[in-house]
Amino acid sequence: MNAAARPGQVASPIDWQAVRADFPLLQRQVHGKPLVYFDNANTGQKPATVIAAVDDFYRQHNANVSRAVHQLGSEATDAYEGARGKLAAFLNVRADELVLCSGTTFAINLVAYSWALPRLQAGDTILVSRMEHHANIVPWQLVAERTGATVRVAEILEDGSLDLDALYASMTADVKLLAVAHVSNVLGMVNPVREICREARKRGIVSVVDGSQAVPHRPVDIAAIGCDFYAFTGHKMCGPTGTGALWARREHLQAMPPFLGGGEMIKEVSFEGTVFNDPPHKFEAGTPNIAGFVGLGAAVDYLSTLGMANVEARETELLAHLTEELNRIEGLRIFGRAPDKAAVVSFLLEGAHAHDLATLLDLEGVAVRSGQHCAHPLLQFYGVAATCRASPAFYNTHEEIEAFVAALCKVRKLLG
Ligand code: PMP
Repeated sequence: MNAAARPGQVASPIDWQAVRADFPLLQRQVHGKPLVYFDNANTGQKPATVIAAVDDFYRQHNANVSRAVHQLGSEATDAYEGARGKLAAFLNVRADELVLCSGTTFAINLVAYSWALPRLQAGDTILVSRMEHHANIVPWQLVAERTGATVRVAEILEDGSLDLDALYASMTADVKLLAVAHVSNVLGMVNPVREICREARKRGIVSVVDGSQAVPHRPVDIAAIGCDFYAFTGHKMCGPTGTGALWARREHLQAMPPFLGGGEMIKEVSFEGTVFNDPPHKFEAGTPNIAGFVGLGAAVDYLSTLGMANVEARETELLAHLTEELNRIEGLRIFGRAPDKAAVVSFLLEGAHAHDLATLLDLEGVAVRSGQHCAHPLLQFYGVAATCRASPAFYNTHEEIEAFVAALCKVRKLLG
């Protein structure tokens, strides 16, 4: 039986202790204590294979892509395009519909500037859920300011779930675009994006799904979701920082003007006029983060070998354990209680400020995030200034959950 399974739980086909050993950083100590890294919703740690792939690229293959005819140039291009192919297969989409970019923030801004800005006008509405990360709010506000369109909020219920009846009722004829997270980075709520995008599509509303917190934690089949745009970031899914992608329906990519102009995104340039490259290259101006995408390709290989269904099952088990332990602590409030939830737990402890908690937990070796998690409107809904957020990943252990809870109880005494 898997050594990490708890009594009463189904044994996993994966040896999670061995998986943990794949992550060099998890072996280190912080403030003289073994590190408990529970800030995975912020960024994830990297397995040795990803670090080695980046290292190997710079040692053996470094050259620019899509330009040079020499051997290194073709190796670099193959590695970069190979990563696009791996990502596409991982998410069940076509590689030529996947625009590689620096992450979700870039991806959503690309939709805002290239799709929304030329199309929206006064009288149009952009529907944005209350639980969005600022990356899926602010670009729409900027578009609204410049076009005269209005941003309308799709509200949540007290348990953190989206108010679906209200959402569908607010999909009126003036709504042109819907922006919604697949999984909330603060509450862990999993939104029924397949159903939501189907309802949007029926009404001719274009849907933008922020998949930053979904792709690293569960099997994602973008084709099955049926959205128009799907954005995600590489650094939360075992990949390097500065990597991510936008998936878009081909008809959108063809109709959209380029976001940035420069090299790589053109076929021909003259002062009489420029012919743009075909998508997705039309949206990839300049030298990309080649080594980063090579690393992201290795991350996809790593996650595919584990199996995303196994990752999801493992994190569901860790979440259940963490929630059970936190529920026992008097005066602890968890934000986001709806049943369909990923392993993200935002909480507050009566009488303790979130930042004080996080600072003292750090001294115990525990890394959690405190603050507003780039989601001010969501915290405003709950009427709190900040929360603490613990977000374990598949490579964390039940022992770490116990160490975290013990540290929390110790810290509480200090603050009391
Ligand atoms: N959306 C969500 C839900 C996120 O969790 C994050 C990262 N915290 C982002 C968008 C932004 O991602 P990035 O900073 O990688 O662009």
